[in-house]
Amino acid sequence: MRRLSGIGVSSGVAFAPTARVVLRQQLPAEAGPVADIEAANAQIVTAMEAVAADLQHRAQQSGGELAAVLTAQAMIVSDPVLKQRILGALESGESRIGSVTAAFAEFAAALAAAGPYFADRVADLEDLSYRVSATLAGLPVVAPPLPPYECVVVARDLAPADVASIDLSRVVAIITEEGGPTSHTAIVAKSLGLPAVVGCSDAAALPDGVTVLVDGHRGTVTVNPEPSEVTQAQDDDRSLRMRLAAATGPGRTRDGHPVQLLVNIGTKQDGLGETDCEGVGLFRTEFLYLDRDEAPTLNEQIEIYREVFAAFSGRKVIVRTLDAGADKPLRFAPLDDEPNPALGMRGLRTARRYPELLDVQLQAIAAAAKTSDADVAVMAPMVSTPAETLEFVRRARGIGLVRVGVMAEVPAVVLRAAAVLEHCDFISLGTNDLAQYTFAADRMLGDLVDFVDPWQPALLELVRMAADAGLALNRPVGVCGEAASDPALALVLVGLGISSLSMAATSLPAVRSMLAEHTLEQCQQYARSALSAPDAAVARATVRDLVG
Ligand code: PEP
Ligand code: MG
Repeated sequence: MRRLSGIGVSSGVAFAPTARVVLRQQLPAEAGPVADIEAANAQIVTAMEAVAADLQHRAQQSGGELAAVLTAQAMIVSDPVLKQRILGALESGESRIGSVTAAFAEFAAALAAAGPYFADRVADLEDLSYRVSATLAGLPVVAPPLPPYECVVVARDLAPADVASIDLSRVVAIITEEGGPTSHTAIVAKSLGLPAVVGCSDAAALPDGVTVLVDGHRGTVTVNPEPSEVTQAQDDDRSLRMRLAAATGPGRTRDGHPVQLLVNIGTKQDGLGETDCEGVGLFRTEFLYLDRDEAPTLNEQIEIYREVFAAFSGRKVIVRTLDAGADKPLRFAPLDDEPNPALGMRGLRTARRYPELLDVQLQAIAAAAKTSDADVAVMAPMVSTPAETLEFVRRARGIGLVRVGVMAEVPAVVLRAAAVLEHCDFISLGTNDLAQYTFAADRMLGDLVDFVDPWQPALLELVRMAADAGLALNRPVGVCGEAASDPALALVLVGLGISSLSMAATSLPAVRSMLAEHTLEQCQQYARSALSAPDAAVARATVRDLVG
């Protein structure tokens, strides 16, 4: 095991001995039911209060993003609904730790159902559940001290509170066995400028004290590297940083063909307005609705949209209307049990049963847009036909919104892209769902990931069809799925005729710099190569080879 790979989430190169931090201990087995429910509940509440106070304390000692995350976690632990659920579990015969675990697991399941975007938040809830249970059991919940020299921290996963409790002054990089690109390890490592590789399952076997070279850009960990490997990685890192820093401003190919570069956001995300981008290509609004007992009010929504529009003043903001239903259920708007949730009442379809939810949301967006100078547009998720498009556009325009588009996530809407574009102003391709529905492969199933690979030539063929319709009608067709964040694939998308790319803010500099280094004609050549490849792996390898 010389070279391990994971997901590089914070670029940079570091070289030091590993220091494993073991943050979790085995919780004692407790049998239920408890003899005195009231006393057990009081003990749990005390433990929760202690954990919340500890998180608040760590928040005060940390700064910036980490402090905000810890404060939000303290609020979760203080949530009265969570406390009610714990009491309910105690009453139904669970032990103290069993009740805590069950209630947090229920919250986590609701988040997991909210889609991959929220999946990394599930790990945060698991950590909070552990903290409360460990406090109840009298176990320590602080990280053991690190060695007194520069080291690379290796852990199964790092929760925000763990990061806050580790003395990071001598940490030069982070490796975790679990976690994804939006995990808090990734967020915190980036904000501290520490190279980090997450989701590196083989790191479980890394011995303590072995020297490793961590490449946070490539997502690799080299064990006992040769001096020449270290020098090469450091040189590559330096030139990558120079290339990224050299490209700023609006997206352009080398020969000046404009491609709007936009960001995807899913909460208010303070500070994102600072990003060097042309606006927001996908504002996922689910966070306003999920895990609530009542729908967000008109005024509450107006307030939040105003804040986002203000952060992107003068720039584009495309708000996606609620994409809930089926596997992202709303407590206040129940739907029937469905055997195939992904094929059921989700996205725009929920408006068939609850039209007022969509209308109130559109009213809130329109009201906030009126008092802002952001260039606001709306789009609907999970649209399948031109008729649905027309109905959505009528509704949105009737409420006062000017620019109205739809997402193409269902192949049917791409097959009829010209008819769809006759009714609306733009199409945004949600390649995550478009891949799922094209290949009839659940995007969450690890065993089927090869189908939902965004390099699949069949998916790219659909992108080409949609882009062609847009070019013929002179209407923008963009991509806001994960496909847009892969720099080489971004070139292919541009070559296929895509006019904007929307992605996580962290992916944007690499895409911009890649674009700036290639002409439109080269992008078209890469697109032809990808389309004619027999499968995704060959398409990816061929284009990456050509791109160099
Ligand atoms: C998509 O499906 O590609 C998309 C952008 O929407 P989400 O990932 O939120 O389903
Ligand atoms: Mg989608």
